[in-house]
Amino acid sequence: MIDLHIHSTVSDGNHSPAELVALGVESGVTAMALTDHDTLAGQDEFIEAARLAKMQVVTGVEISAQSSRGTMHLLGYGMDHTNPALLERLAWMCEGRDGRNDKIVQKLQSVGCNITIDDVLRHAGEGVVGRPHIAQAMIEIGFVRNKREAFDRFLARGKRAYVHRPRLQPKEAIKLLHDAGGVAVLAHPITLKRNMNATEKLLKELVDFGLGGLEVTYPEHDRNQRKCYSQMAARLGLIKTGGTDFHGTGDLRIGHGFGNLQVDDTFFTILLERIGELRSKGLKFAEQCC
Ligand code: AMP
Ligand code: FE
Ligand code: FE
Ligand code: ZN
Repeated sequence: MIDLHIHSTVSDGNHSPAELVALGVESGVTAMALTDHDTLAGQDEFIEAARLAKMQVVTGVEISAQSSRGTMHLLGYGMDHTNPALLERLAWMCEGRDGRNDKIVQKLQSVGCNITIDDVLRHAGEGVVGRPHIAQAMIEIGFVRNKREAFDRFLARGKRAYVHRPRLQPKEAIKLLHDAGGVAVLAHPITLKRNMNATEKLLKELVDFGLGGLEVTYPEHDRNQRKCYSQMAARLGLIKTGGTDFHGTGDLRIGHGFGNLQVDDTFFTILLERIGELRSKGLKFAEQCC
């Protein structure tokens, strides 16, 4: 069993990177990737914990990209997590999030929800501060009952307290990941909110930018969708990946999802091969130009 989509306290998860490795071991997971939103800050801790636990890992990240509709998240795997260009753009996104969070809190105050940015920061701890932490602050004062209500009524796109934040263009995100030696994978295609034909059309554009994979196995994809995405990946020459999107909340378990989510072990082997191919191409390119 493997899990290539996991969040830690460094973004909006409830467990530290090292705790996640321990949870993975406990659940029978043999290979993992930590894919925090727009940050690589958890990678060193995660890799070190994995080394001690003899867990197989690759570096990971989940980048928020601009999309005309729905949500586009690009997963990156195997990149150098100290790459300066990548780190610089991720830091830019974090700053954008901070400015956006202040505006959301102002909007919430104007509708009688008396939370402050300090309440939000307290929930976020040391990591990236995002809407889930704003939701927690809203729940704490009893303004909403749960996270679902916070998003559905206030925080989701188009709702009363929604504020846009800067995101990378897909082309730039893919290039950054590539240049850092990583494979770019489109996460949970279901959230693009497009039908299968439109999804495939969009994927073709992303493939032209260098997209290398598609997240096929995901708790919110039903059997039929997995099959469609799988066939799409084959047609476009994309590798397949999968993971739970574990945040440490609710009933979802690392490796298992809501029950019997089974990410194919060969996805990890093939991912490693693809990362290896990219690196060897990169080397040849470097040799040619020098
Ligand atoms: P942010 O990156 O700060 O805009 O927050 C995005 C995060 O909020 C996502 O990674 C999810 O964890 C969570 N999220 C976004 N939309 C929803 C939603 N409709 N319901 C619940 N959680 C959501
Ligand atoms: Fe999240
Ligand atoms: Fe995501
Ligand atoms: Zn995720």
